[in-house]
Amino acid sequence: MTILLISPTVDAEKRTNKGLMIPQLALYILEGLTPERFDVEVIEEETQEVNLEHKCDLVAISCMTANAPRAYQLCDDFQKRGKTVVLGGVHPTILPDEALLHANAVVIGEAEGVWETLLCDFENNTLKQKYHNPNPDLEKYVRKDFRKIASKRLFNIIPILTTRGCPYNCDFCCVTNLFGQKIRHISVENVVRDIKESKAKVFIFLDDNIIGNPAYAKALFRAIKPLKIKWVGQASISLLVGDDELIRLAAESGCQSLFLGIESVSVKQLLSMRKSIKEIQHLERAFKKVKKMGILIHASIVFGFDDDTKEIFDETVQFLVRNKVSTVSFNVLTPYPGTKVYEKLKNEDRLITTDWKYYDHNTVVFKPKNMTPLELQMGKINARKKFYSKTSVLKRLLGNWYKPFVYLSMNLGHMKQVKVESSRVANLKTNLLRQ
Ligand code: SF4
Repeated sequence: MTILLISPTVDAEKRTNKGLMIPQLALYILEGLTPERFDVEVIEEETQEVNLEHKCDLVAISCMTANAPRAYQLCDDFQKRGKTVVLGGVHPTILPDEALLHANAVVIGEAEGVWETLLCDFENNTLKQKYHNPNPDLEKYVRKDFRKIASKRLFNIIPILTTRGCPYNCDFCCVTNLFGQKIRHISVENVVRDIKESKAKVFIFLDDNIIGNPAYAKALFRAIKPLKIKWVGQASISLLVGDDELIRLAAESGCQSLFLGIESVSVKQLLSMRKSIKEIQHLERAFKKVKKMGILIHASIVFGFDDDTKEIFDETVQFLVRNKVSTVSFNVLTPYPGTKVYEKLKNEDRLITTDWKYYDHNTVVFKPKNMTPLELQMGKINARKKFYSKTSVLKRLLGNWYKPFVYLSMNLGHMKQVKVESSRVANLKTNLLRQ
């Protein structure tokens, strides 16, 4: 029997032209969980065509919220051709009944511990509609064929996941809903084995917070230091502030850049989100510590919180340039289903649309409190433009002199994307009017 595993794009007509292509790890975890008697083919639609006439026996599609409409379209197309289709991933986990309108079965949450059962049921013609294993044990090693991933030349970085779960349950995030409050780990030994087997040298840790458990993180950093790899990952600033050893070990183990979820530079907003970052100066001190260790900072900013006024855009850019932050992702608040923000905005009748393809961090899908949706949309676009202007890139280079080439190549990549976004402003405005 043959299984076709698919990660759909958001829009098959307009594939994103990202500089950094990261393979969809979920597909390779599923492949690793599949018993050897099945043949598996993996399709990442961002880089490959989906053949609707494929002679497979079962189709399994993993999706998030923005690509759910495309996933549903593929499900409908495959079902019309008599195929059995299974949906899984973040969006089907939060809205399984919506997913079942398009699929024969849905995997809710993590696939470990249910995927093999689902395949047996499919073979025996006893497929159920829902499969769910809350909090599977990550100690059970799932072998992934990373050499296969590395051989796909389009991917220039290998994804690794070491933990699942998050205790913080932030208003705008569904990670706690999805993976639970308790942080679960893959053993350090198995992470090291995956890294070694991949034979690759550049990695991204996909964990929402690679230092969520400082003791585990320190053990991991010590274990990967001899492998001489380079890596990037996402970390919480609150934990970095008070632990110098943690930053040092991260740097020594090959950390090149940390993705820091700043979200806002408004003190009021920060206080409502993070108790330990009590003052904006703490944030600035944390930046200095990370930079001192030779690690580049990639910050994530979200515009559109209820405390945000029209001044937030300039205030944010000034703060980021003053602190010589290496690169930034500018996002608009996106009320993903399954989050507290979604429930709040829905109850206040402030959602403009529930067409999920617009839930992409870039398109405004709700009525902000202190500005119009168009002002929020344009404020975010213009902030990004200012941050990636030639003057700003040169000014910030002074604070990123320890890795000038990486800094410049990352900024040039973003400058290109700003041009693409500027050429799509008319589309974004039309989308807002259409919603
Ligand atoms: S935003 Fe980060 S810290 Fe907050 S719940 Fe999500 S993963 Fe956890």
